[in-house]
Amino acid sequence: MLLTSLDPAHPSATDLAAAITVGPDSMSRAQLYEAARALAGSLPAGPAAVHATPTPETIVAVTACLLAGVPVVPVPPDSGSAELHHILTDAEVTCWAGSPHPGSDLPAIPVGRRGRGEATTSIAPADDDLAMIMYTSGTTGAPKGVRLSHRALAAGVDALADAWRWTPDDTVVHGLPLFHLHGLVLGVLASLRIGSRVVHTGKPRPERYAAAAGTMYFAVPTVWSRIADDESSARALRRARLLVSGSAPLPTPVFERIAGLTGGAPIERYGMSETMITLSTRADGPRLPGSVGQAVRGVETRLVAESGQLVPDDGASIGRLQVRGPMLFDGYLNRPEETSAAWTDDGWFITGDVATRDAAGFHRIVGRESVDLIKSGGYRIGAGEVETALLAHPSVHEVAVVGRADPDLGQRVVAYVVTEQQNRARLADTLISFVADTLSRHKRPREVVFVDDLPRNALGKVQKKQLQ
Ligand code: ATP
Ligand code: MG
Repeated sequence: MLLTSLDPAHPSATDLAAAITVGPDSMSRAQLYEAARALAGSLPAGPAAVHATPTPETIVAVTACLLAGVPVVPVPPDSGSAELHHILTDAEVTCWAGSPHPGSDLPAIPVGRRGRGEATTSIAPADDDLAMIMYTSGTTGAPKGVRLSHRALAAGVDALADAWRWTPDDTVVHGLPLFHLHGLVLGVLASLRIGSRVVHTGKPRPERYAAAAGTMYFAVPTVWSRIADDESSARALRRARLLVSGSAPLPTPVFERIAGLTGGAPIERYGMSETMITLSTRADGPRLPGSVGQAVRGVETRLVAESGQLVPDDGASIGRLQVRGPMLFDGYLNRPEETSAAWTDDGWFITGDVATRDAAGFHRIVGRESVDLIKSGGYRIGAGEVETALLAHPSVHEVAVVGRADPDLGQRVVAYVVTEQQNRARLADTLISFVADTLSRHKRPREVVFVDDLPRNALGKVQKKQLQ
């Protein structure tokens, strides 16, 4: 069983205290289990969509699907009609578990309905059964349906429990959306397996993180940056055991400010919808800015050069990151070509990201091969290194570096910089000479573009394709 702590035989199952708190509402494990079983008994076979608002109802609906062995398809609450249509037809959804999305007329099976007693729940799903069809963030194209088995989700959670020393004594606090790996699997389902508690803050506001009593706090880098800007909220997190960042690179200045204010450096982990979390700083290991740590238990990684050779573990050579492990997905839905293109002939999953690894197995994510690896004048430049150099300047609030097509160089380095309105005229030259201290000539931006905001998606990932 994936959600072990809900099993009436589990020691936490009868605990009357709140296991899940979402805003003002709380549920014990027994209440969640009963509500989910009732709904599970009414679900037809075939994938069910869940309108993934941050509410207790969403958690009941997802739990019901997992108990019933009905593949769950989390749908972003703010998805527009095109995305909604894409997901519902691609996944061949038969109904909504819980409330429907207002833009859909598929039938909905409400939470709170009494089960018909037909007890689909007695058919315990097998480990290899499809648990979830999770859509990727769509950073690089249309969102892809990722097929995740009960076995993969369980293996992914168990590896994190090991890396983070995650136990039933923990309380996880976050305000992440509930339709991606980060918020739904790490942020909710992991606790329903491990037996820990969850406090969902609704919106990811710093003062709400500060007000919640937790041991582990999860957030994306944009939220960590806001917390770092709100010193009293950041100081309130001193009591935490782990502050965890993921989904996008955590800028070094944010890492340092959080470490300074909370007295504990954040830990960073790396994963994808397709692979769950494969790399992480360990709870008891060194916490270095820019590092996503080592392979979690059961995972192997390798870095492959364009030549096909393995790159050396020198912490500097960049290679294509490939991974193997028990938490990998079963392929993309309805995309046989992309599924077979995602694996090497010898069985490694090609993440699409590029990285470095040192002799102790610590990885740095350079970024996506398609947008973050800039090929300019015969050099290969990681966008992140240029971003880190620019962020060290106090006038730079946020930055995204891309390679723009260039007749001469192949690509040229272009920096999009978020800064105050004033003094922009002189700042471009100032920044280029500023980074001259840290970056060799070919890595320095050829062009600096000032913007008020960077285009980001729900998880705060910069949409670099738009900038290119
Ligand atoms: P799509 O596949 O549709 O383009 P996506 O890749 O953004 O969208 P996800 O599966 O949600 O969808 O995100 C996985 C990606 O997020 C990784 O491939 C990686 O590029 C990025 N990522 C996750 N964690 C980190 C991290 N700690 N540092 C840098 N990048 C990260
Ligand atoms: Mg992806």
